[in-house]
Amino acid sequence: MPVPPDVRIDTLLQHTGQAPLDPATGSGPVAMPSMRTSTVRFADMDALDRAQAAKARGERVPTYGRVGLQTHESLETLLCRLEGGSRAFLAPSGMAAISMALMALVGQGDDVLAADCVYGPVRFLHKTVLSRMGVGMDFVRPTVAALQAALRPETRVLYLESPGSLLMEMLDLPELARWAHDRGLVVVADNTWGSGYVYQPLALGADVSVVAVTKYVGGHSDLMLGAAVARDETLNRRLGDTHYALGSTVSADDAWLALRGARTLGLRMRQSAEHALEVCRWLAARPEVSRLFHPAWPDDPGHMLWRRDALGSNGMLSVAVDLDRAGARRLIDALRLFGIGYSWGGYESLITQVESGALDTHGYWDEHADARMRAGSVLRLHIGLEDPRDLIADLDQAFVHALA
Ligand SMILES: *Cc1c(COP(=O)(O)O)cnc(C)c1O
Repeated sequence: MPVPPDVRIDTLLQHTGQAPLDPATGSGPVAMPSMRTSTVRFADMDALDRAQAAKARGERVPTYGRVGLQTHESLETLLCRLEGGSRAFLAPSGMAAISMALMALVGQGDDVLAADCVYGPVRFLHKTVLSRMGVGMDFVRPTVAALQAALRPETRVLYLESPGSLLMEMLDLPELARWAHDRGLVVVADNTWGSGYVYQPLALGADVSVVAVTKYVGGHSDLMLGAAVARDETLNRRLGDTHYALGSTVSADDAWLALRGARTLGLRMRQSAEHALEVCRWLAARPEVSRLFHPAWPDDPGHMLWRRDALGSNGMLSVAVDLDRAGARRLIDALRLFGIGYSWGGYESLITQVESGALDTHGYWDEHADARMRAGSVLRLHIGLEDPRDLIADLDQAFVHALA
């Protein structure tokens, strides 16, 4: 039975991509099994011809294992419902989804305008691969004025991430997308932060949403996966062809894990968001804290945009502490419950130090840094599902240790 079209997102997350019933027995499993396969077999040559014809029309019809069978399709359907897209293309990591999307949209001589706050490895993608293919990339402050000044005749794509990766600044996505569309650009947005549950770039004007499923959708720190989701037929075709040509495939077991994680996406994100606000309240009262970066926090400069455009928040926050680099390192080392590590969106709390080099090219930091904020003083925290009172007690003892 298809899911009724008007149900709300928490219902969609439970009912989208269900396992099919066996017509012979009239029964089937509740949870979609992992359908591992390297290839597809057909009842007869006519069935194969029909599949090939549908595939040539751009439909999602597997004729070979690389595309994936029902497990992949279920996850793709669910990601489409979350993001408001009509096709989702899976990739073995979030970074692979970003590479695939950009390779689908640009070629030699083209240029990409990118926000200076995007996930750091995107700069590495340009430096190592895209530049070699003759694709230019300019990283600029994501304001209309700065983008207009950097626009070139060769610019084809506007690449954004809202909120930003390190300081979680909200972008005015609708305004930036309008500006880009008036100039014929395709807008790609990294939506790992929102994961379709609390932020929906396609509804706000983006053409392609890329998501590291690795983070909140997977949610259990045990899987790498990414997706690019789009709505427009021409874009879907370009993404589909590139996806197929690059051989970007994911294992059915990983698609299954992502699907399993997605069923509890809402619960986990809401809980992490609530805990993150509790930690913010505690941090804001500390004399050593000079600045909090978290769009759901009322003092964050992006708070009004967050209220306008987002449907909720998550466990990500950055904090500038009044410590030098060594003091910040002592604080991190003294923590007992926060793992030291990159990534986020899992069940557990993690912390990293934002190296000042990563902020050097970041206009938002220049706008908001004051004399109390020193290099190496920014910590990025992912607040997980632990009891926030325990996390706060852990931070409390670590501050005591760092200041001793
Ligand atoms: C982690 C992350 C990615 C990359 O995802 P991987 O699955 O680790 O490759 C992309 N964008 C953002 C914002 C991320 O946080």
